[in-house]
Amino acid sequence: MIPIVKVDPAEPAISLTWMLGSRCNYNCMYCPSELHDSTSLHPSLETLQTIWRNFYNKTHYQLMPYKISFTGGEVTANRSFLPLVSWLKDQYQVDKIIVTTNGSASKNYYLKLAKLVDAISFSTHSEFFNEREFFLKVQAVNDTMIRPQKSVHVNIMDEYWNQDRIKMYKDLLDINNVSYSVNAINYDVKIRDFPVQKGQLNLAA
Ligand code: SF4
Repeated sequence: MIPIVKVDPAEPAISLTWMLGSRCNYNCMYCPSELHDSTSLHPSLETLQTIWRNFYNKTHYQLMPYKISFTGGEVTANRSFLPLVSWLKDQYQVDKIIVTTNGSASKNYYLKLAKLVDAISFSTHSEFFNEREFFLKVQAVNDTMIRPQKSVHVNIMDEYWNQDRIKMYKDLLDINNVSYSVNAINYDVKIRDFPVQKGQLNLAA
């Protein structure tokens, strides 16, 4: 057997996942409490800029492009997020920015974000989301983030109670040519045994 000696990324880059904070406006039953809460303070723009500068100062000697994946909590719930992304693009020429969101911000918000970042992943969380609004936003953003330069993806959470509607989501995304995956859920870390169903399941069959 030939041992693996070294693995080089296809495109050399400093690649990081930046968890912006654990504050989230949803409370999904399968999401562990260390990944979401309703009380922690959103870090300010100044705090986030300081975190970035410290990281940048320690890494920029490598002369490689940066690829940042933002996650939370819910990043769009922090009002400093858009200004942070704008600042990073202006001041640091970050090569790639990828955002994961629960889709709860407004359509206008996502259209602004779409101009700044390279990829947006929307995740379905049927306990809390408004189905119709969610997919209208996905469609609007997908229409502006044209491949191969940009991309939109939908993470359909494979919620056991929502199997019938997941089929609808897949059909809708297929028809509209939107990328998606059905994501397995680890219920071992659940915070309660039942879904609360505070969302609106209002997509017409
Ligand atoms: S939207 Fe995401 S971060 Fe928020 S509770 Fe649900 S899974 Fe956790």
